Amino acid sequence: MSIHLEPQTGCALKVAAGETLRVTSPTGGQVADLTAFAAADLGEWLSSGRTIDYGGTILVTTGSVLYSNRSTPMLTITADTAGRHDFLISPCSAEMFERLYGSAGHPSCFTNLATHLARFGIHGDRIPTTLNLFMVVTVDPGDGHITIEAPSCAAGDHVDLRAEIDLVVGVTACSAELTNQGVFGPIAVEVVAELAG
Ligand SMILES: [Zn+2]
Repeated sequence: MSIHLEPQTGCALKVAAGETLRVTSPTGGQVADLTAFAAADLGEWLSSGRTIDYGGTILVTTGSVLYSNRSTPMLTITADTAGRHDFLISPCSAEMFERLYGSAGHPSCFTNLATHLARFGIHGDRIPTTLNLFMVVTVDPGDGHITIEAPSCAAGDHVDLRAEIDLVVGVTACSAELTNQGVFGPIAVEVVAELAG
């Protein structure tokens, strides 16, 4: 299964336990926000806080296990050609663009996720902090100030995430100018039963 996300769009799909989700930036320089819910109980969702706590780091890459709010392993990153992602910041939203930039009615990852996850019975209010693939956020060790840098990915860079339980997953091609250096690209989403290596 393969989905091509046009710039500033999103999708939601089911990924079965054992299947691998591959998220690719075909053109490079494009962030993709990802969230996940347990298909068997939508009250269980991908937790930034649990993942950071159990991994002992704010950075995830190959080998990282991504946990739910109930401490269940939901996904394992099995490959990562970009190497740097963010798991601190909420998906961009219409409210964020209005509050930070005074821009009304801006396309956003939140709206795209909420729109597509609604098909699976997931309301926008339940969308947690997303795993922002290819997004580079640096944290000042002194005052904690965050800076959004250029995305980590070159053309063709991808992340493979193996589902550890049956999931409903949402993915976007991020809509934020700052996050993507002002240039919006597509995102490719593939589900494969098994990936070598
Ligand atoms: Zn976004």
